[in-house]
Amino acid sequence: MSGEEKHFIHEAFESNYIAPVGPQVDAFEKDFAHKLGFKHAAAVSSGTAAMHLVLRILGVGHGDEVISPSLTFIGGVSPIIYQGAVPAFIDSERESWNIDPGLLKEEIYMRVRTGRLPKAVISTDIYGQCADLDSILEVCAPYNIPVVSDSAEALGATYKGRSAGAGARAAIYSFNGNKIITTSGGGMLVSEDRELVSRARFLSRQAIDPAPHYEHSQIGYNYRMSNVLAAIGRGQLTMLDERVKDKHRVFDHYKNVFSGVPGIDLMPEAPYGRPNRWLTVILISPEDFGADREEVRISLERHDIESRPLWKPMHLQPVFRDCAMRGGEVCEDLFERGLCLPSGTAMTEDDLERVVNAVKETAASKKRVFA
Ligand SMILES: *Cc1c(COP(=O)(O)O)cnc(C)c1O
Repeated sequence: MSGEEKHFIHEAFESNYIAPVGPQVDAFEKDFAHKLGFKHAAAVSSGTAAMHLVLRILGVGHGDEVISPSLTFIGGVSPIIYQGAVPAFIDSERESWNIDPGLLKEEIYMRVRTGRLPKAVISTDIYGQCADLDSILEVCAPYNIPVVSDSAEALGATYKGRSAGAGARAAIYSFNGNKIITTSGGGMLVSEDRELVSRARFLSRQAIDPAPHYEHSQIGYNYRMSNVLAAIGRGQLTMLDERVKDKHRVFDHYKNVFSGVPGIDLMPEAPYGRPNRWLTVILISPEDFGADREEVRISLERHDIESRPLWKPMHLQPVFRDCAMRGGEVCEDLFERGLCLPSGTAMTEDDLERVVNAVKETAASKKRVFA
């Protein structure tokens, strides 16, 4: 928290609007849409809820298939299952680690031939770097397949100068505790389509038809964001640019020191955009570095430093073992060798040096053991 939130929370308390819906929610949606350059936004209880609403509104239902990158977090994929549909996964491209548009094209062409077009394609902006959305849209547009952008990790990132997710049929963001800004838990659904967003708002509030009593002609969800959390979101949003700047400072520090270390590479930066550097992720090549990813992770843990492997690809998850997968070598390799380093915006130069030294030391101490 930055302190800015208190002002808006105070406003919420003064107005005594604590329950769901209220002026802070409306204002947060407006502020968010305005700041990110979207026409319409609906604030909801999580990024997962936002994705669920979009898929439901796009008509994803029982027996349908939805294409998703394999390298992603489950929150962007579970809603496919909630709708009774089945995911089909695609490998990442090396340049951005996001869904490979070439493989997507192969998959869609195969499906055109067999008459099994997906109901939607989800494009995920992984670790704060945008997917190559124009190439994805180019593949999907001739067949009217809607593209949904899972930009949960990419708030503040840009693609060809536009906000992450702009140009997709709809995009979702997350304000979970681990994201670049947070409301403790929350999400946002954005789109240029007024009808889609107002339907999402309706469904997120238990689908209450207009009437003096409670009238329901459809089943909705309790997915609305509360007025108090929206107040926190408004305060957090004022800090977004600064947070992105801090994330870049963290990344640049790691990049400067690790660029001279053989066997350590940083996540590549695709030429079409500017990532928000949500997390700094390194790839460790054990032959050149002298220790593998797991050895580094355990050694950091011994120094009381938390780090994590990348998202384990969805096609390797027990729960999705029967799902289709195209390719897989790239995301499997990234999972094998990738490590997310501590990337908090409050980290000082000393904190960063501590992490760097602990990483470097893993290889050095192994060499000593074998010497
Ligand atoms: C965090 C995240 C989500 C889910 O957001 P929640 O607000 O936690 O439900 C979805 N997709 C990706 C890629 C995420 O990182």
